[in-house]
Amino acid sequence: MRKEIINRIKCEDESVRIEIFCNRQYKGYYVRGHIDTIQDSGSVHDPMRGLFGSINYRFIITVLVSGTYQERIKRGKIRSFQRDVGFERWNAESMFAWKTQKEFIDERKRWLLAIRRKRSNSRTYNRHIPEWQEEVFRNENLVIDLDEAGITENSYLEESVSAKKDIILLDMDFFVDEIKLTNGQEMRHYLKRIYTIPAFWCPQEKEEFTLTDFYHWFDDLYEILYFNLGYDYLAKRKYNRILESTGRLGHEWIESNTISKHYLKRLNQLKKGIGDSTYPLTNFCYKFFDDLIDDLTTQKQIVKCQNCGDFCKYYRNKKFCSLTSDGKNCGKSASNDRDYQAHKPERQAKAAEYQRKRRALMKKLGVKK
Ligand SMILES: [Zn+2]
Repeated sequence: MRKEIINRIKCEDESVRIEIFCNRQYKGYYVRGHIDTIQDSGSVHDPMRGLFGSINYRFIITVLVSGTYQERIKRGKIRSFQRDVGFERWNAESMFAWKTQKEFIDERKRWLLAIRRKRSNSRTYNRHIPEWQEEVFRNENLVIDLDEAGITENSYLEESVSAKKDIILLDMDFFVDEIKLTNGQEMRHYLKRIYTIPAFWCPQEKEEFTLTDFYHWFDDLYEILYFNLGYDYLAKRKYNRILESTGRLGHEWIESNTISKHYLKRLNQLKKGIGDSTYPLTNFCYKFFDDLIDDLTTQKQIVKCQNCGDFCKYYRNKKFCSLTSDGKNCGKSASNDRDYQAHKPERQAKAAEYQRKRRALMKKLGVKK
């Protein structure tokens, strides 16, 4: 939905975090966000055959912050996540600092002048900031419209606002931004998918438990949301379970390129178990699942039953679960239901006519009710 925000990025340096601002406020809150680039070079590597590649993902997160949160940052009341191993992805202490674009650019200028002053070692350093330099600072942030922020007026948001939370999670998304492959390396269709992240990086049952960088990344994300944003609508165990199950189903599909009855059953179970997607983190988990579903649908493996909503095995022109392949006859019950709806007025008229005749007969016979 908000991929076009990413297309507006002008900063060429992928390691720079893009700050998101908005010129309009929502119920006294400032809209803030980040766009991070995350590189995965593992799932497209094949050193045996001399093939190397990488995928750049963009992660986008939006929140509402109040001045109180900014105070919390200044007082250092933000939990940091320093790691001995793995890559340092989050600088949690400065997440969503600055309320406006102007505040951000002014601070970048102050930072530049402080460096110059230090280097020149005197009071007479050059205070002029050229236009191109300001341009660089401007490119490190994006100003979005209020309707791009991912604000959905639901009970989650209402509760959070009335509880006067100083920071409220709005929305998160993952996109594939760039795929780099060496010559001769074929483009596998699933590389442009995001479900490959849990598929390749979340620990698989059969494999040895390895703490990969991406695994750390998801872990850190949860901790930051929980500790610094006070987000506790999804238990850590469930969060891990959803990602791992999605990962396992994605991995199996990539490996075998076909799906079984048992696979469909697990797919439907997972869908029912993810939970209420009006909560932003649950919704985020759905994105990986939905991407897998989209791939399976595009690759003509599954169709969504128009009666019960379950995923069932694909056949041409199939719309419902069928008794032979899916164990239930949704087409028949749906047509019965349609039949019932279509002939409802007719049946009602018939019933009324019957009642009228019955009353007339009773009257004739002198029977009291
Ligand atoms: Zn069905």
